[in-house]
Amino acid sequence: MASTSASPSFRPAQRVSGFGTTVFAEFTALANRHNAVNLGQGFPDFPAPDFIKEAAQQAIAADLNQYARSAGQPNLVQALADLYGPLFGRELDPQTHIVVTDGATEGIFATVQALVDPGDEVILIEPFYDSYPASVIMAGGTPVYVPLRPVHEGGGAASWALGMDELAAAFTPRTRLLILNTPQNPLGKVYTAVELEQIAALVRRSNAYVLSDEVYEWMTYPDGANPVEHVRIATLPGMWERTVTLGSAGKTFSVTGWKIGWAIADAPLAWAIFSAHQWIPFTVATPLQEAVAIALQQATEDGYFAWLGEMYRGKRDRLYRVLDEIGLNPVKPDGSYFILFDTARLDVPVEAGDRRDYAVCRWFTQEVGVAAIPPSPFYSPPHQYLTDNLARFTFCKTDGALDEAARRLVATLG
Ligand code: PMP
Ligand code: GLN
Repeated sequence: MASTSASPSFRPAQRVSGFGTTVFAEFTALANRHNAVNLGQGFPDFPAPDFIKEAAQQAIAADLNQYARSAGQPNLVQALADLYGPLFGRELDPQTHIVVTDGATEGIFATVQALVDPGDEVILIEPFYDSYPASVIMAGGTPVYVPLRPVHEGGGAASWALGMDELAAAFTPRTRLLILNTPQNPLGKVYTAVELEQIAALVRRSNAYVLSDEVYEWMTYPDGANPVEHVRIATLPGMWERTVTLGSAGKTFSVTGWKIGWAIADAPLAWAIFSAHQWIPFTVATPLQEAVAIALQQATEDGYFAWLGEMYRGKRDRLYRVLDEIGLNPVKPDGSYFILFDTARLDVPVEAGDRRDYAVCRWFTQEVGVAAIPPSPFYSPPHQYLTDNLARFTFCKTDGALDEAARRLVATLG
């Protein structure tokens, strides 16, 4: 939806008056107008697996078309408890530990509504997913920003780390929640067990909570030299009672338009999330929940999750290689389906008042024919200068689209 200029007779509520259009909507529209290969917005352009599509068709045909159970269809919460119980190392009660949400986006919104009072502080690690500050602001909370910083380990692209002293200094008696994202969008960082234990210690000491956004949980790329492992912070000592973990069928089954997500937490937290959720969407699409329940069971039986990770590893390597070859110094992601790269060597004109990362990503979209996302919306205004020379591509696209993007990039920059 296009934003309109202010009308003298209409004033929106303060909680929305600072919001513009999301960067994803803006750059997908620009990509479509310019026929660019869309490596901007993170949505798969390849078909979803047949098994999940057939399950949805069968659920609709069987007339599972009325309101669902508000906290999630019994079949889906059971399938989630079966899958995640062993991963969390505890028995999960499908009735009291799980709330099915309208994608992870509603999981974020409902969790913040459930935990954050006006005036409470919420620690957001930059770069953050863009809906985090919006959710905090709409709850009347105060975001407190802590940036990940590039660490240069002898040439090449940097890895990014959290300064633990800087993080510790961000906690105050009003800190209520810390939002974590691992594997992370847009850096592709996968937090190590050591980092997570350090974060957990600060959270426990401050009697705060963690919202752990793990929508890219199956997309990690370990190799011999780099034993990447997705660790769930809820499994660390004393953290089950303090953590809400979010997942998304959109990412796991390449159905981002379905908007089926879930929140897993100890019963008092899950109850609070449910209390908010029942007044946000009330329920989530019934036949799609039934389909995800069947898909989760089938995925567990046939090794789909490992297949998904390997499929994305191939796409990561395909895109990474090209960006490296043309000197854009990509950050090799350990997880997620995004690659951040360095645009410093590009001579792109920037008009006064424009952000450089926006100008460069518009140039990629319009002149190179490959859409990118500027990362400054993933930072608070005082820290946005950190992204002047950065841009993000996604590799959740067909190999054909990635090859065409590579051809266009090499033709202009090679
Ligand atoms: N968290 C992160 C880190 C994401 O990248 C996304 C992507 N869309 C979401 C949450 C939202 O997930 P969903 O599409 O399930 O609402
Ligand atoms: N999460 C996706 C991304 O980061 C897009 C989500 C959206 O369009 N809101 O690209």
